[in-house]
Amino acid sequence: MASLSNGQPESFVKIPTIKFTKLFINGEFVDSISGKTFETIDPRNGEIIARIAEGDKEDIDLAVKAAREAFDHGPWPRMSGAARGKIMMKLADLIDQNVEELAALDAIDGGKVYTLCKTLDIPYGAANTLRYYAGAADKIHGDVLKMSRELHAYTLREPIGVVGHIIPWNAPTVMFFAKVSPALAAGCTVIIKPAEQTPLSALFYAHLAKLAGIPDGVLNVVPGFGPTAGAAISSHMDIDMVSFTGSTDVGREIMLAAARSNLKPVSLELGGKSPLLVFDDADVDKAADLALFGILFNKGEICAASSRVFVQEGIYEEFEKKLVEKSKAWLVGDPFDPNVRQGPQVDNKQFDKILSYIEHGKREGATLLVGGKPVGNKGYYIEPTIFTNVKEEMIIAQDEIFGPVMALMKFKTIEDAIKSANNTKYGLAAGIVTQNLDIANTVSRSIRAGIIWVNCYYGFDSDCPYGGYKMSGFGRELGLEALNSYLQVKSVVTPIYNSPWL
Ligand code: NAD
Repeated sequence: MASLSNGQPESFVKIPTIKFTKLFINGEFVDSISGKTFETIDPRNGEIIARIAEGDKEDIDLAVKAAREAFDHGPWPRMSGAARGKIMMKLADLIDQNVEELAALDAIDGGKVYTLCKTLDIPYGAANTLRYYAGAADKIHGDVLKMSRELHAYTLREPIGVVGHIIPWNAPTVMFFAKVSPALAAGCTVIIKPAEQTPLSALFYAHLAKLAGIPDGVLNVVPGFGPTAGAAISSHMDIDMVSFTGSTDVGREIMLAAARSNLKPVSLELGGKSPLLVFDDADVDKAADLALFGILFNKGEICAASSRVFVQEGIYEEFEKKLVEKSKAWLVGDPFDPNVRQGPQVDNKQFDKILSYIEHGKREGATLLVGGKPVGNKGYYIEPTIFTNVKEEMIIAQDEIFGPVMALMKFKTIEDAIKSANNTKYGLAAGIVTQNLDIANTVSRSIRAGIIWVNCYYGFDSDCPYGGYKMSGFGRELGLEALNSYLQVKSVVTPIYNSPWL
């Protein structure tokens, strides 16, 4: 079984003192109006890391007022794109200078592997995403339209206004900057609510944004709970757009609230049950590595996780054997230990939910090939878990478990593989492992999902749009697609000289 590393975390990395615990509204750290706070927990042991000011409707109202003022009268939407870009570049540099502290905050708050936060989430997910959109900020422009019926017209691309962002806990940094960077580049002002499980890095980013010179009111960070602070964002009459990442059920609530209030446009990045298809011609060893990485990266708490793995029958047995060997060597333990590949699940609730899905899988008649149990006796660690003899209609093959639990299945033909891959209400991502270009291209076109990885998994970059088909949502993060979602198009039309329209 995967073993728990017994390393003392403090011997690997210095856990930072928590400096920011208050709401960040209009450029200041403030207590919540109610004075209430909530605990954020270290998932390695269930202990309290810090108490955080708890934002509620009244605090969201204040943040919206500040963001509205900054949008309607402040410099941010009025300055040149180049000037906005320069400030965003400065923020990116400040993030790089604080990479270790930020990585430690996400690791301790979310149970994420420290070295991955340090080498991936912070430098790429935050700093490089900011730089990508900083570079785009001065390239926003409308079009001149052809003259017709003696009319001359052009379009303006204007920021959509005050934006509400609601994000989940599994990638606190990556989500923060996937939302905030394009919105800031567009000239919008923002209220962002981090998940209640992981508020620490978001508040640190607020502090750095102020140091970088982002004007007061442009970026407001309000931690709090979903049904209170989150719902206040989605139903607010003075927020012009809401962009949400989280579960499909909450996404539906958000869309309803947006519709019932001011009909604000909504972008939803929701759940997934993504397939990885391994064809007979694949390098079995590499494919097994990829399959494990696809489900165990970030302890399976990742929306695009390859939670359904379909292997062609010719290599199935060898593949299964490799998976067992490799999963036993996959080290679960303290996320600050440099040898560890998988830390604890984010909290007690997620830990219980995953274990109850595992029990459900057993009851449904699937075979537990590997894992299935907690690791150690404190914290929220779970073994890498693989089920075989899974039928596609089983709950463990249909529901998003959001944990280190793989459903391993077999297929015969390409047609079977495509049919099985699409046999889900979700459509976020898919992986294909094959050396055959015809198979790769045919299957890529046939799967209804927003991103297809051929011979890789989790290939993300700032310029590559990412989002869902079907019940995985709509709208795109990253790339110029995301920037456009924060822009309105306005047409300006005027008659030309001597036109009958005059
Ligand atoms: P969640 O939907 O419970 O919570 C996400 C956020 O929404 C949190 O900030 C929460 O406080 C807030 N929220 C909860 N109820 C709300 C309400 N009624 N109104 C407004 N806001 C509310 O999701 P979670 O459990 O925190 O995150 C896991 C989910 O996120 C998974 O389903 C996962 O697939 C999804 N996810 C999707 C993507 C993607 O890009 N598609 C990325 C990461 C996570």
